[in-house]
Amino acid sequence: MTSIQPPATDTASAWHALSAQDTCFCLNSNSCTGLAAEEVARRSRIYGPNRLEEKRLRTKWAICFEQFKNVMLVLLIVVAIASGILDAVEMRAGTFDGVPFKDTVAILTIVILNGLLGYLQESRAEKALAALRQLSAPKVRVLRDNKTAELDAAELVPGDIVWLEAGTQLAADARLLVAAHLQVRESALTGEATPVLKSATAVLDEDAALGDRINLVFAGTEVLQGRGQAIVINTGKHTELGRIAELLESVETAQTPLQRRMTQLGNALVVGSMLLVALTIGIGVLRTGWGRLLELIEVSLSMAVAVVPEGLPAAITVTLAIGTQRMVRRKALIRRLPAVETLGSVNTICSDKTGTLTQNKMVVQEVAIACGAFHVTGEGYAPSGKFVLGEEAIAPAQYPDLQALLVAGVLCNDATLQFSGAQDDRAPDTSGERGEWQVFGDPTEGALLVLGAKAGFANPTLDGRYQRLSEFPFDSERKRMSAICRATDADVPRSEQALVLFAKGSPESLLARCTVYQAGEDAIALDERERDRILAANADMADRGLRVLGFAYKPLDVEPADADAAETDLVWLGLAGMMDAARPEARPAVDRCIAAGIRPVMITGDHPLTAHAIAQQLGIARPGDQVLTGPELAKMSDGDLKAAVDRTSVYARVSPEHKLRIVEALQQRGCFVAMTGDGVNDAPALKRADIGIAMGITGTDVSKEASDMVLLDDNFATIVAATEEGRVVYDNIRRFIKYILGSNVGEVLTIAAAPLIGLGDVPLVPLQILWMNLVTDGLPALALAVEPANPDIMKRSPFDPGESIFARGLGWYIIRVGIVFALFTIVLMSWSYGQAQGSANPESWKTMVFTTLCIAQMGHAIAVRSDKPAFEMNPFSNPYLLAAVSITTVLQLMLVYVPPLQAFFGTHRLSLVQLGICLGFSTLVFVWVELEKLFLRWWRSRRRLRA
Ligand code: ATP
Repeated sequence: MTSIQPPATDTASAWHALSAQDTCFCLNSNSCTGLAAEEVARRSRIYGPNRLEEKRLRTKWAICFEQFKNVMLVLLIVVAIASGILDAVEMRAGTFDGVPFKDTVAILTIVILNGLLGYLQESRAEKALAALRQLSAPKVRVLRDNKTAELDAAELVPGDIVWLEAGTQLAADARLLVAAHLQVRESALTGEATPVLKSATAVLDEDAALGDRINLVFAGTEVLQGRGQAIVINTGKHTELGRIAELLESVETAQTPLQRRMTQLGNALVVGSMLLVALTIGIGVLRTGWGRLLELIEVSLSMAVAVVPEGLPAAITVTLAIGTQRMVRRKALIRRLPAVETLGSVNTICSDKTGTLTQNKMVVQEVAIACGAFHVTGEGYAPSGKFVLGEEAIAPAQYPDLQALLVAGVLCNDATLQFSGAQDDRAPDTSGERGEWQVFGDPTEGALLVLGAKAGFANPTLDGRYQRLSEFPFDSERKRMSAICRATDADVPRSEQALVLFAKGSPESLLARCTVYQAGEDAIALDERERDRILAANADMADRGLRVLGFAYKPLDVEPADADAAETDLVWLGLAGMMDAARPEARPAVDRCIAAGIRPVMITGDHPLTAHAIAQQLGIARPGDQVLTGPELAKMSDGDLKAAVDRTSVYARVSPEHKLRIVEALQQRGCFVAMTGDGVNDAPALKRADIGIAMGITGTDVSKEASDMVLLDDNFATIVAATEEGRVVYDNIRRFIKYILGSNVGEVLTIAAAPLIGLGDVPLVPLQILWMNLVTDGLPALALAVEPANPDIMKRSPFDPGESIFARGLGWYIIRVGIVFALFTIVLMSWSYGQAQGSANPESWKTMVFTTLCIAQMGHAIAVRSDKPAFEMNPFSNPYLLAAVSITTVLQLMLVYVPPLQAFFGTHRLSLVQLGICLGFSTLVFVWVELEKLFLRWWRSRRRLRA
């Protein structure tokens, strides 16, 4: 079908020398209808997806090598070498029996396995992060087949017609067809921080530098202000950005605060174990002389291995990864890993109103002009409904001022209203038509298109009666927009056709710029009484929770260049109040928030009364609570604001820069703040907040880039759900740290006790300790990482984000239970040692110690699940733990009873009685922890009674 090929990409440098029309011609595309589906398919076969090759920051080898920089693995390597030297010395002395260098080989194997595991996890984590990035990849609004659609940027092909608006991150290089005050930040490409004002009409010299090509926009740059339409000229690696791909931001792999703290813990443990080794050898030599040096070294090596929690890093990585996956399932996309663990500490959630707490599905319910207020019927975006005055339906054409207001609403508009119907043969309805009316673009503007359509104005140019020439776009700072239009009349020469500016915006800001108001056909001077009447009507609508917009117009002689000068001496038309109902799930989410000790705060650009009405419906504010407005806030000193944030839960008519001050003031009051945002100007506040949250649907690419988390459904309830998941992650991490480190302390003390109580041998060899730390501790720890949420998790206050991981008794628990663990095992060790001496199996005591330590940990894993006694827990609520405990117990028994494993791990067959004794001792740790829980419960209830 297409005979002309899009020009080869190496001629791309000359695109700026073509007019917009010539560019469309060269690319064989149509700016009114876009490309046809077959042509898109053909072009995407030629040009491939619009994405750059993912640049891997670290090679596989680099990730692999980094595993061995871990100080704990280095310690293990040293132990392996020392153990090898020891074997060699014993062999030379002729005192060695068994398989030579077994420990060395085993430790090195485990070091390699551990490194491999770390490598696999890290590369999986990198892939997962890349996949998450893919999920948050920018969407573009494209015109194809005469229909508008939201597509993944990767699907763009040369010749596509795309829309640009403030906050869009450009996904391809494109030639502008329309540009309304379009300002683009090109610093990613040119290094120039000042925004560039773009023009669609410019045709430039061929040798214009990249930074001067004002008629082109480039992939990787950001629209800061204005709107536009453009035709894609280059995609993927053919874009200017593709040519300098190394500038691309790398995949983020920063360690989370927790991982950093764990690395520090690892270092501390290594240093501690070194000291312990030195101490054991020192005391041993002092007591028994140099004769037992070899034995002492063996004890020290075992202790050094025992102290390293080899299973911990894996458990942490898995928990964080599972946390992000669980959050994505609940529609919260994590962009920076630390957010997973810090979300649990959030105690203040600052949320936008429109779209987050409300549905962002606007329907105009009321229109007020000079002669009175009209009720508008109809639901959703379907353009059918009536205008009712009093009890009577009227024809809008009878009221010129109402007509003008509706025209202003349709012309001052960048949204599109479209019916997406689908034939469905199986559908029972006789028409066979299914589908719905959809709005592309701002729902506020969509509602005005629907309103206009209800009066018969079904298309943006009002059947060609108006031509839109330019616009002063909406921004949250000005809170208004205007469009300059030419009233086209075939009978009048073009030079004499009337120019009109139509404006809409927040009633206060627009009314302040009006001097006259329209009443029927007449324009009457606005006096104070009339102003007060209009503001009272505005307040009345806002008080009922309606979102209110004002409308005005002004005849022009010439097309203006400056918004500030143009938007003066306007003629006031009237008000439109639209309903944006609260999301049904928002109220329960607010209640959950409050129960969880988290304060919800609403920050909106809307009217204070509208904001308060919705906040009250949702339980964020109570009747009579104060609402702080942007202008009031602007007058406050930082000190006053700091005092006010404690009392204020609703902020209205705020601009993005106020958001930053609110976050800072809250943080100074010690709050840990999650803050939502969607606009370009929200980026600083999102960055400053402890958790910056961008909107997945309505959010600009710039706000997403600045955020820690993206809400895929723009829903407040999702923030609360993510906070809950954050708490679960943090709880689980503490749970398995309790479990793993408690066991390590027990092992170290047991080994250190052996020479001190005069046993002539080491109870555990390094290989057995590694087995315990990696397998018998590791598997249950992984299962604890997926422990389901405690049902009360959202009924307690958040924890201090700065607290140490060992806070709230965790450090003390590890030491206490570690000592108890060791005491039970030492009793068993000294008893079984005595029994074994002179028996047929004199080494069996070591296997008894080994087995008891392993199986005791199984009981500990079950006990550590909750603060509640085990008998109150459903054992099947974490089936992974049951499986881990069963598998580990079977594996341990195999080590004791399967001959090749016995030989390898240096274990000895135990009699049934011996095994029974081990199992009996093993349950003691479980019993101890359970008794502790009961005691604590009793103690707390007694204290409560006394209080
Ligand atoms: P939130 O901050 O909760 O998302 P919001 O949408 O009201 O609320 P802004 O987008 O900053 O915040 O809008 C501020 C005000 O500007 C609105 O209350 C409305 O009066 C006006 N307004 C909103 N959208 C438009 C628009 N497209 N054109 C003109 N005026 C608008």
